[in-house]
Amino acid sequence: MEDFLYQDTCFTEDERLIRDSVSQFLADNIRSEIMSAFEAGTFPKKWISLLAKQGLLGIRLPVEMGGLGASAVQYGLICQELERIDSGLRSFVSVQNSLCLFPIWRYGSEEQKKYFLPKMASGDLIGCFGLTEPNSGSDPAGLSTTAKKVSGGWQLNGNKLWITNASIADLAIIWARTTDGIRGFLVEKSFAGFTAKELHHKWALRASMTGEIVLQDCFVPDSHYLPGTEKGLSTALACLTEARYGIAWGVMGAAENCYDVAREYCLQRTQFGRPLAGFQLVQQTLTDLFIEIVKTRFFNLQVGRLKDDKKATFVMISAAKLNACRVALTTAREARNLLGANGISLEFSIMRHLTNLEAVFTYEGTDNIHHLIVGKHITGLSAFGD
Ligand code: FAD
Repeated sequence: MEDFLYQDTCFTEDERLIRDSVSQFLADNIRSEIMSAFEAGTFPKKWISLLAKQGLLGIRLPVEMGGLGASAVQYGLICQELERIDSGLRSFVSVQNSLCLFPIWRYGSEEQKKYFLPKMASGDLIGCFGLTEPNSGSDPAGLSTTAKKVSGGWQLNGNKLWITNASIADLAIIWARTTDGIRGFLVEKSFAGFTAKELHHKWALRASMTGEIVLQDCFVPDSHYLPGTEKGLSTALACLTEARYGIAWGVMGAAENCYDVAREYCLQRTQFGRPLAGFQLVQQTLTDLFIEIVKTRFFNLQVGRLKDDKKATFVMISAAKLNACRVALTTAREARNLLGANGISLEFSIMRHLTNLEAVFTYEGTDNIHHLIVGKHITGLSAFGD
């Protein structure tokens, strides 16, 4: 897409370099396979080592711990390039980085960090994040998985549902209720009483694995309790804020791809004796999409700069996720319409992005929930029902 307001001049050379090298890596290694992976409903395992070699499984982790040591803005640009290919690909990377590596880095003991983080960055260990349950989604305070203190560890019981990477993960960050409140645990797939299975019949994020986790008298040793989660649910929510930040950037990659495909199509396709792009109604649609994308990219960049300055609040990041998902979903819907019948074909990327974005609109805090977060900030009144 045209860099209309010269946003490139707002990025450093390092930022442009990392964005362009990730874009090239994806074009060389993954782009040509995404359609068949989506159609087959699978996340090819060979992508894991490819992503790891490129440093994308430890993006913000310091170099000395095996990571890429990227800034928040660089992380955002990487998410944007990943999701330009597919939201499922970006989801895999988001979960590994923001929802599994981040909680260990932020809340783990020194031993946990030393053991798990380099292995996660190298792709030897894949993680997932288990917060959502069959009866607790938007309201995680209502989760019912329990962690009971027993000699030498904890006994976990409960079900987690809609968990990205569950069936391919080696470890899960599980949020469970103790007598002192909600806490985080590192549960390895080899632990007795832990099972994970794939959810089927999913019509969005098909190139992403989503599963269910069952914990039945699952013993988790004390060494796998995350000590920094003693502040309770807010520590789980801080992980969500990390992931939401990446989503805000990521979905704009999908939006740009939809816009680019639709613009090109409208220039090529002729009806009533002229290119579709020559009709006023089509130009209105393309113009509206174009301006919303340009605006949103600046919104995200400012949130990214504030994040690198440690000034970004969870409310700003909620607003960014809400705004970007809405813009991306509208772009995908309008772009699909501009392609007519071809708009529903997988031969074009738009319908794939559209179904993916429906799920991204819902996960990591639904659009409604982000309205409540920002609404509480601007009115001082909580409308959550608490
Ligand atoms: P509900 O909470 O039941 O909400 C249903 C509807 O009611 C929504 O529109 C919602 O906005 C609305 N609603 C709820 N409360 C209010 C309110 N107070 N005011 C107004 N409207 C309200 N979870 C994880 O823990 N880990 C993962 O890795 C993960 N991956 C996912 C991958 C996919 C593909 C999907 C679809 C979900 C994933 N989730 C994951 C779960 C996701 O975060 C939840 O689906 C999401 O939080 C919404 O919860 P829910 O589906 O239970 O919907």
